[in-house]
Amino acid sequence: MSANKAPKNHVFYRNQNWHYPKIEKGEGVYLFGEDGKRYLDACSGSAVANIGHGNKEIAEFAKQQIERIAFTHLSRWTVDVIEECASKVSEWAPGDLNHVYFVSGGSEATETAMKMARQYFIERDGKKSSKWKIISKWDSYHGNTLGALSMTGHPGRRKFYDPMLANFPKIPQFYHYRNPWGCKTLEETSIKAAKALEEEILKQGADNIAAFITEPVVGSAIPGVHPDKIYFQMVREICNKYDILLIVDEVMAGFGRTGEKFAVDHFDTVPDIIACAKGMSAGYTPMGATVCNDEIFETIMVKGSGNFVHGHTYASNPLSCGISLKVLEIIERENYLENAKAQGAYFMEKLEELYKYPIIGDVRGKGLMAGLEFVKDQSTKEPFEVSENVKGKFTVNCLAEGIVPYPGGGSADGVRGDDTLLAPPINITREEVDELLVGLEKAIAKTCDDVLGVKA
Ligand code: PLP
Repeated sequence: MSANKAPKNHVFYRNQNWHYPKIEKGEGVYLFGEDGKRYLDACSGSAVANIGHGNKEIAEFAKQQIERIAFTHLSRWTVDVIEECASKVSEWAPGDLNHVYFVSGGSEATETAMKMARQYFIERDGKKSSKWKIISKWDSYHGNTLGALSMTGHPGRRKFYDPMLANFPKIPQFYHYRNPWGCKTLEETSIKAAKALEEEILKQGADNIAAFITEPVVGSAIPGVHPDKIYFQMVREICNKYDILLIVDEVMAGFGRTGEKFAVDHFDTVPDIIACAKGMSAGYTPMGATVCNDEIFETIMVKGSGNFVHGHTYASNPLSCGISLKVLEIIERENYLENAKAQGAYFMEKLEELYKYPIIGDVRGKGLMAGLEFVKDQSTKEPFEVSENVKGKFTVNCLAEGIVPYPGGGSADGVRGDDTLLAPPINITREEVDELLVGLEKAIAKTCDDVLGVKA
């Protein structure tokens, strides 16, 4: 190593504000740091490690799969685990979403959905089809690659890359706490947000729109925000009326995180395409998928060209498919969906009690996917200045209590308050939820002291 290279900076991601110790190992909901401390992983990494860390059954299975066959290319071969994983994901997916295009992560999944929507209309209507734009929402996150980022409506994530992004139309989010319409109920906000879709379609011309993409429960952009059921019913009807595909981004919310197989199941709606990743392989391997309905598959693959003009080297990777299949089997066998539902209901009920702390502006979420928004003043909803670094102080206080939260997107653009995502593994026990709540409450109390000088 040359003398002028500091070894700690070889990993590009770390900077001088790095709060975290090196991790030695993980077991269940816990991470064990080099500092000798045990941390409760209250965010599953980034809503990924859904069945907890250090699962021996997965480790054993992975070893066997690698010994059998670790890699084949999807353009030439198939392997039993690829077929079985696709069948399992189809079984989990709602309605006739029966066709699974495997990828390696969330951005690839949403980007694939976007391209699939475009090719569907070309195969159906001919090369002259003008349907290519994807409507999405402000305060959303659909990934970091340029297509996914074009759909993303998080100003902080977009700011450097704006000139490189496709000019996709954006409409307001169903963000009730700071809704732009002055609505008093979540239902009213949801109706306004759905009507905004129809207005945008009329403005752009339905002939130019291929799809509308939405998260069912928002992840890192404004953690835990979700609509009323009426939103998805209206959005489904609007998409049908104007011949527009409905893409639901379940990258974070899917595979049991909210207590249902997919979060869109809470809203009794069947989209045309689901993009998913994260909990699908629970972090044991990179994995993702774009799942489409019979109509899209048949139009492209049976009646059409039979060639989706797309593909990544690691798509349909047998190791990832095998691990994902195993993860879904474990979730089913161990009733983790029921656990997520039960612990999630308890968790959300307890989080509501945190309003007694003056920095808590909004508590929201579904199942084990919750968000807390911090404010300077509960009555006016005034956010903290970005320079006050509330999120950073809260994170440090959580780590001191042995709790790992996930920083939300709020303060990155300074538009609204700091927020945080709480999403522990879906196999968390009641005792572990209680432990999380105790540590969280202490960290919030300390943060109140740090930023408001209030002993809460
Ligand atoms: N979509 C949503 C809703 C997400 O939460 C994320 C990541 O957090 C992505 C897409 C991008 O996924 P990835 O980071 O795996 O590319």
